[in-house]
Amino acid sequence: MYITNMSHFLDDEGKTPRNAPKEARELAGFLLLVIDSYTRKYSGDKQEIRCFTKNCRGVINVGRSILYDEIHWNCPECNVCGKISEWRGTAGENSGTPPIESAENVKNAFTWIHKLTEELEFPISVIPVGLIAPEESKSENWVITRITDYVEIYGLIVEIEDGKGIYQFPIAELSIKDEQSMNYKLVEEFLDFWFTMNDQ
Ligand SMILES: [Zn+2]
Repeated sequence: MYITNMSHFLDDEGKTPRNAPKEARELAGFLLLVIDSYTRKYSGDKQEIRCFTKNCRGVINVGRSILYDEIHWNCPECNVCGKISEWRGTAGENSGTPPIESAENVKNAFTWIHKLTEELEFPISVIPVGLIAPEESKSENWVITRITDYVEIYGLIVEIEDGKGIYQFPIAELSIKDEQSMNYKLVEEFLDFWFTMNDQ
């Protein structure tokens, strides 16, 4: 995972220093494209970015952590991924588009975070599904203890405890055990919203 802070890549004028190594300049160029693409995400002028991995033809997914304001990106083909902090005010931030906060999807995401934080009752017993599912015996005691983040491309991120450790996973990778509970209903409603948003 590439964890990058844009202020480390750019000089006081917002440019990549000329004496920076070639790899750093190339990465900075890619990250500026990601920032540009994110700030256009909900405009009518979406910009696709091709993956930089050799021979990979993936198109990069771009979204933001609503709580921490970092831009996350990943390639669905080769799984290269990263997150970018201190991206505001860089040359990649597209000033020609409306502020991302005014996008309807972003406002709705905020509403969902507040609703789920207030209405979910923790701890919540869950079973891991999909890619993260380990053998059943290893996941008997999984509980969600709290919400830690909301990233547009991953959805709600929650903290899990299993008695041995603490982990973080997207809630879309978890299935709530008690299907009659209000928790189950709330999460289903949230996932409906989130999958619809991601299809746009
Ligand atoms: Zn790729």
